[in-house]
Amino acid sequence: MSKRKDILIIGAGPSGLSAAIFLHERGFHPIIIDKKDCIGPHSKALGVNPRSLKILKDLGLTDRFIQNGRKMKAINVWNKEKHLYRNDFTQIRHEYPFMLIQPQKESEEILLEEVLRREIPCHYGAEFYSYNQIEEKYSIKADRIDLNQKFDYLIGADGGRSRVREQSNLQLTGFSYDESWEIYDVELEMEIAPDEGHIRVFPEGGMIMIRLKDSVWRVAGNLPSILNYLPARTKVGSISWESKFRIHHKLANGLVDNNVVLIGDAAHLHSPIGARGMNLGIEDAFMVSQLIAESNLSEYNAQRYKYLKSTVARVNTITMGLAGDNFSARMVRNNMQYLRFMFPVIMPKVRKFILGLN
Ligand SMILES: Cc1cc2nc3c(=O)[nH]c(=O)nc-3n(C[C@H](O)[C@H](O)[C@H](O)COP(=O)(O)OP(=O)(O)OC[C@H]3O[C@@H](n4cnc5c(N)ncnc54)[C@H](O)[C@@H]3O)c2cc1C
Repeated sequence: MSKRKDILIIGAGPSGLSAAIFLHERGFHPIIIDKKDCIGPHSKALGVNPRSLKILKDLGLTDRFIQNGRKMKAINVWNKEKHLYRNDFTQIRHEYPFMLIQPQKESEEILLEEVLRREIPCHYGAEFYSYNQIEEKYSIKADRIDLNQKFDYLIGADGGRSRVREQSNLQLTGFSYDESWEIYDVELEMEIAPDEGHIRVFPEGGMIMIRLKDSVWRVAGNLPSILNYLPARTKVGSISWESKFRIHHKLANGLVDNNVVLIGDAAHLHSPIGARGMNLGIEDAFMVSQLIAESNLSEYNAQRYKYLKSTVARVNTITMGLAGDNFSARMVRNNMQYLRFMFPVIMPKVRKFILGLN
């Protein structure tokens, strides 16, 4: 039976779609709007971590994700052409001891399929502009949709440039690095293990390589003309996507303003190193749906903020280690081969963190 609370989710990215499903599972009938016309062709996130897989399991989504994606069971660290360490994910004690590699586009498609199967209205091409609070209810101004009803809750899942956040009393605080990172999805023929991830460090910067599907790899990092740093004897084929992005280190100064709540990138923006962004958004969606069901949304900040703050800070530390953005980070990165004796102590912690099990 549908619970009688009117909930509007702004943004049909992974955070918004999963929030809709979690809420529906708890008996609510939310509405989603998104300004884009459909799911975009390119994927930012690739890694779905064990924590998200566990959260999505009871909805039957994990099986669908696993059938569609690829299990990545280790990540290797290289200093130029020298292999330094293999961080073996199967060492963790968990039902899902791997990172599932699945392009974000496909994760969104599976989530959307579930949204539509549950008959949750998902309006594409509908841009949110503003809200107005009258007593306990919110009215909405949006383009290309008539939303005459009033809402009890607004969920801002509208990404890093969140207009919901701008409209609220919440602000993003933190900083962005000046340097831009290169990203390619490119066909590669190489001798390195295709089913594992690879982090490669050089005096000039660092890169991460993960195979997407078939012979297409995601290559990203802060090296200039990054494709010049591929492993020896690599044959480069066609490029299906190339772009640049900047690294942010930002967190909203609060997550809830009355019954307006921020989830996903609307609340926290950080480096993709560590594969936490989309996964944190799915976790946010899960917690928010639970708290709304308990009529206890005001608790969200107390329960979640500290964790998000420390996670965003640790993502930044790992990113600095790869990118070498300051003197000490460069010292560590450029002397990694001499610090190998510390790997057995450090790497299990890194593994736990990137698998979302911290
Ligand atoms: C290169 C790269 C690699 C990454 N790799 C990973 C990874 O491996 N694992 C991981 O967990 N994370 C990764 N991330 C981060 C991940 O992509 C994001 O954290 C994730 O997309 C956030 O999802 P979201 O739903 O919160 O926001 P978004 O995906 O940004 O979705 C927001 C949605 O809101 C809509 N919207 C915006 N404004 C409005 C408006 N005014 N009205 C209506 N709709 C609106 C947008 O159209 C969009 O559909 C990576 C990021 C980058 C850049």
